[in-house]
Amino acid sequence: MRTNFTPTQLTDPHLAEAEKNLRACVHCGICTATCPTYVLLGDERDGPRGRIVMMQNMLENGGSPSPETVLHVDRCLSCLACRTACPSGVDYARLVDEARVHIQTTYRRPLGDKLLRWLIATVMTRPALVRSGMFAARLMAPIAFLLPGRLALMAAMGAHVRPQPEMTPTRAIIPNAKRIALMPGCVQPALAPQIDAAVARLLARRGIELVPLEGAGCCGSLVHHLGRSEDAKNWARRAIEAYEHAGGERFFEGVLITATGCSSHLKDLTHLFLDDPLWLPRARAFAVASRDFLDLATPAPSLPTRKLRIAWQVACSLQNGLKLAARGEELLAAAGFEVLSVPEGHLCCGSAGSYSILQPEISGQLRARKLGNIAALNADAIATSNIGCLNHLSGSDAPPVVHLAELLDWAEGGPMPLALSRQGG
Ligand code: SF4
Ligand code: SF4
Repeated sequence: MRTNFTPTQLTDPHLAEAEKNLRACVHCGICTATCPTYVLLGDERDGPRGRIVMMQNMLENGGSPSPETVLHVDRCLSCLACRTACPSGVDYARLVDEARVHIQTTYRRPLGDKLLRWLIATVMTRPALVRSGMFAARLMAPIAFLLPGRLALMAAMGAHVRPQPEMTPTRAIIPNAKRIALMPGCVQPALAPQIDAAVARLLARRGIELVPLEGAGCCGSLVHHLGRSEDAKNWARRAIEAYEHAGGERFFEGVLITATGCSSHLKDLTHLFLDDPLWLPRARAFAVASRDFLDLATPAPSLPTRKLRIAWQVACSLQNGLKLAARGEELLAAAGFEVLSVPEGHLCCGSAGSYSILQPEISGQLRARKLGNIAALNADAIATSNIGCLNHLSGSDAPPVVHLAELLDWAEGGPMPLALSRQGG
């Protein structure tokens, strides 16, 4: 479609990328039916086509957007189901990412919203603060109702998570092993350290040694989706420096992070540094070196402890980002599990980074819809590849939710996944 950016605007490489994708959109609306927020709300402005029109107006005009535009862009999950569905090759990520940065830098949010976003960016990116936050949330649980709106919700979410002892994945020293650097991440080590431990055991059986990447932290995906591009770049720079300092490609065959939300972000890192010629080549090299667990795991026929019916909840980052959904199913089936496809599997579960805190109503409706679809399968457990989905779907109203790696490790002789053992096996 036609665009009206000025030549000066198009010297910004991020805007130029957005413009290229705006021109590719023919407004056919094929993507609309795949969009979770359109399916729920039935409003064109809450579907990709409507958002694209609003984002184009906002980016062309520059300046502060209208509250209406911000509302509908904020409601987008960045699940990228629309990108997968688009026959014209529109990369919606390039549009919504730029729109979020524009909103973050030009729009004055109400103070409470601003504070909440700052809190998410500060606390949820640091495992030690996540642990302290969970501790505080449990202490405050009896009076959480006194907190304002979404802060009360955040406290309730923190309080429902069971505390986990800190756990560093055992570094298996394997002769002639392939070495992979392991990014620690942020929320996952605090909420579910058993996942990295399971991945380390599983990959050790395949001759791959995981080496914790000292100095790296969060991948930056969480703040990236808040439009905080400088924060996202800072987390990325920290990871790149840590990898290079540890030997980079001379010492490692790649760098792994075990949540697909994070690995799909790292594989896409080049886009973040388009306007930074110094860091762009380093970011590109890091993106090329980035691995997901599903890139490395190979099927190993083995006898599971018992036959289980597993609902395979394909994270959006896995199906629309990494495009490795079939691989997860293949690994589970090879390990002897009965794999059940979840109806409406293309619809996001509502987790989407911090979306469950920022948009609790839509997120809650998507969770209920996902669990309703899973209930019809009569599954023993839900498997997923992303800590966000795992934490969001877990609860007394759901079957146990486990990371795919925990199940595969168990089938090969590792410990029973924590969520299953808590349920009594
Ligand atoms: S993004 Fe693709 S599918 Fe959606 S309206 Fe544009 S061209 Fe059509
Ligand atoms: S990213 Fe997801 S929520 Fe956002 S417009 Fe596309 S399909 Fe809809």
